[in-house]
Amino acid sequence: MLAPTETNLTITERWLAQFERALGEGDDALLQTLFHADSHWRDVLALTWRIITVNGAGAILRELRKHGEEARPRSFKVPSHRASPRTVTRAGTESIEAIFTFETTEGRGSGVVRLRPEPDDAPKAWTLLTALDEIKGHEEELGRSLPQGKPYSRDFHGPNWLDNRQAATGYTGRDPAVLVVGGGQAGLSAAACLTQLGIDTLIVDREKRIGDNWRKRYHALVLHNQVHVNHLPYMRFPPNWPAYIPKDKIAGWFEAYAESMELNYWTATEFEGGSYDQKSGRWSVVLQRADGSKREMHPRHIVLATGVSGIPNVPDIPTLRNFSGKVLHSSQYDEGDAWKGKNVLVIGSGNSGHDIAQDLYSSGAKVTLVQRSSTLIVNVEPSAQLPYALYDEGPSLEDCDLITASIPLAVAKRSHILLTQQAKDLDKDLLDGLERKGFKLDFGEDGTGWQFKYLTRGGGYYFNVGCSDLIVKGEIGVAQFSDIASFVADGAQMRSGRTIPADLVVLATGYKGQEHLVGKLFGDEVATRVGPIWGFDDGDELRNMFTRTPQPGLWFIAGSFAQCRIYSKYLALEIKASEIGLVR
Ligand SMILES: Cc1cc2nc3c(=O)[nH]c(=O)nc-3n(C[C@H](O)[C@H](O)[C@H](O)COP(=O)(O)OP(=O)(O)OC[C@H]3O[C@@H](n4cnc5c(N)ncnc54)[C@H](O)[C@@H]3O)c2cc1C
Repeated sequence: MLAPTETNLTITERWLAQFERALGEGDDALLQTLFHADSHWRDVLALTWRIITVNGAGAILRELRKHGEEARPRSFKVPSHRASPRTVTRAGTESIEAIFTFETTEGRGSGVVRLRPEPDDAPKAWTLLTALDEIKGHEEELGRSLPQGKPYSRDFHGPNWLDNRQAATGYTGRDPAVLVVGGGQAGLSAAACLTQLGIDTLIVDREKRIGDNWRKRYHALVLHNQVHVNHLPYMRFPPNWPAYIPKDKIAGWFEAYAESMELNYWTATEFEGGSYDQKSGRWSVVLQRADGSKREMHPRHIVLATGVSGIPNVPDIPTLRNFSGKVLHSSQYDEGDAWKGKNVLVIGSGNSGHDIAQDLYSSGAKVTLVQRSSTLIVNVEPSAQLPYALYDEGPSLEDCDLITASIPLAVAKRSHILLTQQAKDLDKDLLDGLERKGFKLDFGEDGTGWQFKYLTRGGGYYFNVGCSDLIVKGEIGVAQFSDIASFVADGAQMRSGRTIPADLVVLATGYKGQEHLVGKLFGDEVATRVGPIWGFDDGDELRNMFTRTPQPGLWFIAGSFAQCRIYSKYLALEIKASEIGLVR
């Protein structure tokens, strides 16, 4: 029970002191009193050197006892420079949400505890996050520990900054410790954090210029999330940037970021795959450079940051062979001008399908969007921004990122069910209009919305930036794939007997999962060992993401700007730990 004079701070400090005592003295009876039966503990490397979620008080006690002895978490404090404990509502439940710091045998960390009031008792923990911030003795090279460049600037001889940068990126006679494949937001974030930890890291990307992964996307593209959610680690976007960043602007920023963060980056370099030698603990990989030459490298770690751009998913539609027009996968589509005045069928109703349909429409094509299955539609504003409301609550970006990481899957699900209902209400007119046009809607498994569709299958939704309105107005047609009897030379013959004419069919049918890419790059044995990537495992965490995998030396990073910003730090810390022998 709360004494009327108690503040959120004193309640939190008392809970932390009891928690520390219970752990330190092995007092299970006390520990038990500190957690709700329905509680969740997420550890991000701090106590377990893993990213894990433990659900239920009984399991939490067991796991804390198991890992606490070695990690010896202690010195729990509410830091004065971070958001102070406040009463919040998360997933419809009110609690005191408090950020704290602590240390372990090997590192320093921060965490978040959410304390729920009890009718006749002291508040108990509903959720607890413990996350590693730094490894003792291996703190990031920031501020004062940066290279000073004194010898050449005082003595006027020896290599200067540029000479050193050129030697670092040249990799003549040396290999990086970590090879990051793919230099989009995932690769850049990971490489920035690894480099800050003093780990020799090289990014390779097949594109000619840093940022081409965005530059080459459709003309009208602006990012879907607002600017303040999309920062990369360490470097904020300038304060005068637009709320929704245009593609060429983010592409230019990627170039500036790589330069400013002194990242070693080889463009126009295709990673062709490789094999792992268990004995030496190194990979042998082949890179093809722009001039066609090959370079073999032997890094200890590979971080695959290839996004979904690996292998296009091209469904086998037997009757499509009858079609005499052009068939393109969405990855081959560049712009609509060539299709002005022509008829186009876009098969697939996720983000790419809708964006391509709208691009073709605005180029003067007559477009029909073909749905293969029901799709979740959400207006880009305000509905798609609802999950990011936290970032407008006031705490710093660092605090918001920690709070985001502190929400366990079970609570996130509950929260997204509520947000999806809210979005449904906000978007009611649009959704009703779509249904009137025969568009099939869904709201994700158990109504958990677009974010869970993204996290479980990487698609199946569209952020409406205008295409849905065109469908409602009848400017873009809608058809169901199941209503197509067969493709014919000049289009799609429907079961109703009518033919939808087409000169072009675009297959906006997505990409194969990263496990297919792993098979292609490293062979089936490695792919089988690693297993599925992305989507959740039984332990409520994304599979093989941001943490070590069953294949030594192989790591993955992907996801939104926010996910990459948050988890690149932990990925880099775990690789550092494995480099210095703390983690095998
Ligand atoms: C219209 C639109 C708006 C979006 N808005 C947002 C937003 O606001 N916020 C957000 O978080 N997300 C947004 N996204 C989604 C998402 O973040 C992006 O799709 C993003 O590109 C994923 O980044 P990534 O680094 O994981 O992969 P990618 O950007 O796909 O980068 C992967 C890189 O790997 C390279 N590569 C792949 N294989 C190889 C190989 N074998 N050898 C060498 N190089 C290789 C590729 O060339 C590519 O450059 C948006 C997407 C779209 C289409």
